[in-house]
Amino acid sequence: MPAACQAVFFDLSGVLYEGSKAVTGAAKAVDQARNRGLTIRFVTNTSTKCREDILNKLDRLGIEAEPSELFSAPMAALEYLLKHDLRPYCLVHEAIEYEFSCLDRRDPNAVLIGDARGRLHYESLNRAFQLCHAGAPLFAIGKNRYFKTEEELQLDSGAFVVGLEWAAGTEAVVLGKPGPEFFRSVVESTGFSASECLMIGDDLESDIYGAIDCGLQATLVRTGKYQPSYDSKLPDGVSVVDSVADLVL
Ligand SMILES: [Mg+2]
Repeated sequence: MPAACQAVFFDLSGVLYEGSKAVTGAAKAVDQARNRGLTIRFVTNTSTKCREDILNKLDRLGIEAEPSELFSAPMAALEYLLKHDLRPYCLVHEAIEYEFSCLDRRDPNAVLIGDARGRLHYESLNRAFQLCHAGAPLFAIGKNRYFKTEEELQLDSGAFVVGLEWAAGTEAVVLGKPGPEFFRSVVESTGFSASECLMIGDDLESDIYGAIDCGLQATLVRTGKYQPSYDSKLPDGVSVVDSVADLVL
């Protein structure tokens, strides 16, 4: 019997919206969870938008969200790098570049990679490879295979992370989902135990496996990047709903 749910963690892309459009019923689902007195967290690996833009997008889609409820992988990465006094070579999207501007990046002793889109080209990846091959640790904001826009699946940064790992003979530390530190810090912010928190996601590895490995409950939605092949790969106890609008909390 799972513990009573006290906090709900909503993934964003693929759960509450797809591209620029809200998933039908998403705002109402968040409202219902809030009205039931559940603690709400928005947990995202999105690294192509700064926090302010994410909050503005949720507002535009009619989804109520407080800044303190948003936990993004880039912010977790920044905290980690600051805490460990690292000087990263940052392969990040231009939209979040300024969030990392407080870091000393001269003479890099680490590599940080995110969904940097057009910045992930031979020269930049080669620089990252050379640093990692010389011993610099590799940090990934996420390691997702793909994400979903309104129309289609698109390649995410995981392929580049795996490529660097392979070439440099190293293993990346993932600072967003499914990294255990990330889940732990979001759980800690609620004041509840992991077993009292429920992760709602469309990504099998980052959302579902990540949450279950950290002792949370998890529900997979059949929106966003969901593929029918996921059904046979679900750990015991994970529920599946057609969309966030079908959640029963
Ligand atoms: Mg997602």
